[in-house]
Amino acid sequence: MDFFVVDKARFPNYDRHKIIRSKIEQYLGNKPVYTQLDNNRLVLYRCHCGSDYCSVIACDLEITEDQVKWNNIAYEDGLDKEDALELDEHGITPIEQLIFDRKQYQQVFNEYLEQYL
Ligand SMILES: [Zn+2]
Repeated sequence: MDFFVVDKARFPNYDRHKIIRSKIEQYLGNKPVYTQLDNNRLVLYRCHCGSDYCSVIACDLEITEDQVKWNNIAYEDGLDKEDALELDEHGITPIEQLIFDRKQYQQVFNEYLEQYL
């Protein structure tokens, strides 16, 4: 999740809750994944400035009946598309796959929504 303070005078229409809710919908597969890198990969971690071009840690989201899978978790910056999944030059080793129980995964986000939004 993105946590930062936005100047309300300069950005009066900024709605942090709306942005977080939209991101959670992507994590849950209820909404198409959106990224500035335009590659349909779910961004797990990004620069505090909000630009995906600063580089991100992202994955391919796969949701089955019982499981949620984060596949090919890797560093990328949109510049080296063909090498994106093999980059090790940044000292970040790609993770092939993380598998979550779908009910537990959804529960975590539901609890977050109840507690904070
Ligand atoms: Zn940045």
